[in-house]
Amino acid sequence: MPYFKDILGHEEIIGHLQNAIQLNKISHAYIFDGEEGAGKKLLAQTFAQTLQCEKQGTSPCGSCRSCKQAGTGNQPDIIHVEHRNAGSIGVEDIREQLCGDIQIRPYSSPYKIYLIDEAEKMTIQAQNALLKTIEEPPSYGVILLLTTNSESFLPTILSRCVTLKLRPVKDSLIRQYLMEQLRIPDYQAELCTAFARGNVGRARMLALSEHFGELKDHAVHLVRHMNDMELWEITEAIRKVADYKADINDYLDLLVLWYRDVLLFKATRQVDGLVFSEEINHISFQASRISYEGLEQIIEALEKAKVRLKANVNFELTMELLLLTIKEN
Ligand SMILES: [Zn+2]
Repeated sequence: MPYFKDILGHEEIIGHLQNAIQLNKISHAYIFDGEEGAGKKLLAQTFAQTLQCEKQGTSPCGSCRSCKQAGTGNQPDIIHVEHRNAGSIGVEDIREQLCGDIQIRPYSSPYKIYLIDEAEKMTIQAQNALLKTIEEPPSYGVILLLTTNSESFLPTILSRCVTLKLRPVKDSLIRQYLMEQLRIPDYQAELCTAFARGNVGRARMLALSEHFGELKDHAVHLVRHMNDMELWEITEAIRKVADYKADINDYLDLLVLWYRDVLLFKATRQVDGLVFSEEINHISFQASRISYEGLEQIIEALEKAKVRLKANVNFELTMELLLLTIKEN
């Protein structure tokens, strides 16, 4: 059962929503815009649950009938619009599940709330159908659009919705959450936090993933021994990353974090704040060997490699260019 006070970060959005509830100025349509794992669903569900709670407070009470139903996903007036087609949300989905249904008064609650997840998948026709409802909604209707990209909406939709953009959550909050709630050891929490870039869902996923720990060990082993390895050995090692069911991008990100640590240590001589602080001996050694310029070139080459792979440039060629830069420095 979600409560606003348990949500990490997003203070501005929560403040806005609770204020609207308090002033009884609920809009008919909201857009929650944020990347996958950022917390859109949690915010939208908590908001919906609060609006329907029998206690009518600014947070769900957690114990009334409506809250209990919402907790099990069975609140009849909180409707999750289903995607019947995996790739897109078609006009029929919106017409049948929303435009028609919203005309029927709420079953047992003050509002009738529709959640559309991955709303960027709505076709233009679906958006136009939705627009008609948003233009003249029944007084009790509230539509929550969850999306990773609000720019995919028609300007006419955007102008009628309150857009709430999710911002990255503070590292300190994420680290504390991983350590206290998930019981993740501090060095691992540090890495997952750095890797998640303010995305709680991603941090959680990484912290609980068996593969991520292995992937990290693999990356650390590689950067430690890279200087004694031949190019083909390194390329082979990186190719093995697929064994961890990992994205090569994640792997390259780990390498970026490593060299950022080396750069940071070279500049500050501080162990605090390093992602790989438990590898301080190797970090310190590399910091004394590689110039500032060299480190910047390496980090740049890693970013370039990610772009090349995304553009489907040949794997061997991309790795060769990358590793030559790293070895030269
Ligand atoms: Zn309640």
